[in-house]
Amino acid sequence: MAAVDAVILDLGNVLVFHDNDVLFRALAERAGLDPRAVGQAIGSEPLSAGTNRGWLDRASMYREICAALSLDVPEEEFQALWSCHFTVHDAVLPMVESLLGRVPVLLLSNTNVLHMDFIRPRLPLLERFDHLLLSYEWGLVKPEPAFYQAALRSAGVRPERAAFFDDVAAYVHAARQLGIHGFVFTDAPAFARQLGELGLPP
Ligand SMILES: [Mg+2]
Repeated sequence: MAAVDAVILDLGNVLVFHDNDVLFRALAERAGLDPRAVGQAIGSEPLSAGTNRGWLDRASMYREICAALSLDVPEEEFQALWSCHFTVHDAVLPMVESLLGRVPVLLLSNTNVLHMDFIRPRLPLLERFDHLLLSYEWGLVKPEPAFYQAALRSAGVRPERAAFFDDVAAYVHAARQLGIHGFVFTDAPAFARQLGELGLPP
């Protein structure tokens, strides 16, 4: 008997690796900037909220990010650059697949529409998840409690019957504050052990 009735997973550095240094370097090279300046510009407001909370649509993201970096590239090239830092985490996928059908599996991700455009065809397993909670569709981001609560409502479970995995300790902490079983994701072998502890061995 499993200790939980739903498993909620983060996306970045859990199901796909995202090497932000690669992204910042690629954009910096094209824009003639220092990679640190690129990181600061992308992470600053209102650009960060605009992308993650979905205030900017695809065309606006292209326009606003290029403007922030003084980057002059065609939209297609920008989209390739913007997602050049993702690698699918192959080792974890069979473990996630083993959960499907045993418990509802949900995604809870701070992300943006262009990154999901890139990731979805490369990670078809996502289409078999019970719910995908994407920050840009909800206008909510981790660690806001309302975003976790939206996931719990989607799964139809109480917090104490849900497990949440994320590589960011602060987001795990926020989940625990709500009573969710929060686990810091580190790597595939640890994930397998954590699932075992929950009575859901892969
Ligand atoms: Mg992450």
